[in-house]
Amino acid sequence: MREADLVAGTVEAWLGNPVSRVLLRWVSRRTEKGSKLESALKKYVGEQERLSFQEKLAYLLVKLAIEKGSESFGISREQMKTSLRDPLIRRSIVNVLEGIGYFGVERPQTTGAPFLVVWNFTKQCNLRCKHCYENAGPKPAPDELTTEEAKKAIDEFANAGVVALAFSGGEPLVRRDFFEVAKYAVEKGFYVSVASNGTLITEKVARKMKEIGIQYVEVSLDGFEKTHDEFRGVQGAWKRTVEGIKECVKAGLYTCVATTATHYNLKEMPKLIDFAEKDLHVQRFIVFNFIPVSRGKEIVEQDLTPKEREELLDFLYSKLVSSKGLETLSTAPQYAVTSYKFAFGPLIATHFTNKGAMEALRGKTRSLAQFIGGCGAGRLYCGMEPNGDIEPCVFIPIKVGNIRKQSLVEIWRESPILKQIRNRDLFKGCGECEYKYVCGGCRARAYAYFNDLQGPDPGCSINQKYWEEVNSLKTVSQAEADEPQTMDEAPKKLISVPQS
Ligand code: SF4
Ligand code: SF4
Repeated sequence: MREADLVAGTVEAWLGNPVSRVLLRWVSRRTEKGSKLESALKKYVGEQERLSFQEKLAYLLVKLAIEKGSESFGISREQMKTSLRDPLIRRSIVNVLEGIGYFGVERPQTTGAPFLVVWNFTKQCNLRCKHCYENAGPKPAPDELTTEEAKKAIDEFANAGVVALAFSGGEPLVRRDFFEVAKYAVEKGFYVSVASNGTLITEKVARKMKEIGIQYVEVSLDGFEKTHDEFRGVQGAWKRTVEGIKECVKAGLYTCVATTATHYNLKEMPKLIDFAEKDLHVQRFIVFNFIPVSRGKEIVEQDLTPKEREELLDFLYSKLVSSKGLETLSTAPQYAVTSYKFAFGPLIATHFTNKGAMEALRGKTRSLAQFIGGCGAGRLYCGMEPNGDIEPCVFIPIKVGNIRKQSLVEIWRESPILKQIRNRDLFKGCGECEYKYVCGGCRARAYAYFNDLQGPDPGCSINQKYWEEVNSLKTVSQAEADEPQTMDEAPKKLISVPQS
C-alpha cells in the first residue's frame, strides 16, 4: 500500500468509525462556555488546569486522538504541542474535528462550519473593473447589514466555529464602519484579512489596519499601468494601487498582490511577479482564476485556454519552489494537481493555504491532498453578500440562506445546494477524473459555463472536450468598454477613507 493510502486509512480507521464519530460529536457539542473539545486542547498545551469530570474524560479521548494522529503524520508530540499553543490552530483543529464528527471522514473533508467566510462587505466601489463578480458601483446596496447587524453576524460566526474572516467587496474600505467592524472581528479571535483595490490605502490607513490586528491584506493589481487602468476602468488607479501596496508593506502587514489571469495580462505575468517581489517587496503573489460571472460575462473571450492555464500554473509552482521569499499561489483548484505531481514539494491542496501550513505539511502532499481537496466552495468556505445572503462561494450567485434569519451552522449542514456541491462522485467531467478529490474543478466556473454546479470545469486539459464545447457555443459578446475615467473624476466621497 502506498504511504498516502496508509495515512488515509489510519485517519479513516481512527476517526471515521461510528464510535469515534459519536465521541467526537459529544466532545464538540457547543455551550455558551465553548466545547469540551476546546477545553481539552487547552489542557493539552497547559493553558487550562481545572476540568470538570466530563471535561477530564474528553481530555483523555482528545489526547489519545491527537497523539495517534500526529504519529500517523510523522509529527512529534512536542511539535504538535507547539502548534496547538496557537489559538488559531486550536480553533482550526476544532473546526476540522467537528466536521469529522458530523459528516464523517470524507474525501475531500467538509469542516463543521466554514473554515473561512469571505464577506462582500459592501457593493460600493470607486473603480469599474471589467471582471467584477459583484457588479459593484458607486452606491451601496440598499439592504446592506448595519453596523450592529454586522457585529451580530460576527458573533454568529464565532459561535459556529469559523476560523478566518476576509473582508472583500465592492471595496470594503469605503464603508465608514470598516475599522469598527474589523476590530470587533479581531477581538473575537478570527484571522482577519482584507481584499482591497488598494487605491484608498494611505499611510494612515495601512498603519491603522496593522494596529487593529488585521493579519493579511490582498491588493488587486492586474498588470502594469496601461493594462491595469484599462482593466480597472479608471485612469490613475495603478499609481494609487501601487502606493497602497507599498504602504501596506511599510506598515509591516503581510501583503499579497492578486492578479486575475486573462489574455489582457498573461504575457505580463513573469515581469509582474518580479515587480511584486523586487520592487514592491510583498510576501505573496496570487493568481486569481478568471470566472465569467456578473460583469465578467462580458469579457468571457479573455478566459485562458486549458493549455495556457496549465503552463501558467507550472510556471507559478516552479517559482514557488525556487523562490526564497515570495509565495506564488493560485485560486485555480488545478494548482492542487500541479503540486500533487511534485510529491516532495509544498502542498497547495487548496487556495486557502499559507506558508506555515505548507512548511508543516512538506512531503505529506499525497497523504493529505485528497482530504483538503482543491475547491473549497461549500465545504471549507462560503461567501456572504452585503445583505447577509450566504453563498457557496463569492463567485457562485446562489443564495443558500441568510444570516439575518438563520444560523450559519444550520445553513451549512442543511442546505441541499451545499450537499450537491460536496458530492464529487456525481460531477460531470471532473467526477470521472483521477484528481477529483484533489482538485474537483472550480465549481463557480462549472456553474458560469454550464449553469450546473456539478458540471465540468472547462479550464483544464483533462476536460478539453468541454472547453471546445463552450467555445463552439460561446457567443462572444465583447462589452463596449467604458471610456476609462480619471481618478479625479471618481466620486469625491469615495476617495476619503473613514479613519476612525
Ligand atoms: S478534470 Fe476536473 S477534477 Fe480533474 S484536474 Fe481537471 S478540473 Fe480538476
Ligand atoms: S468555486 Fe471553488 S475553486 Fe472556484 S473560486 Fe470558489 S472556492 Fe475557488
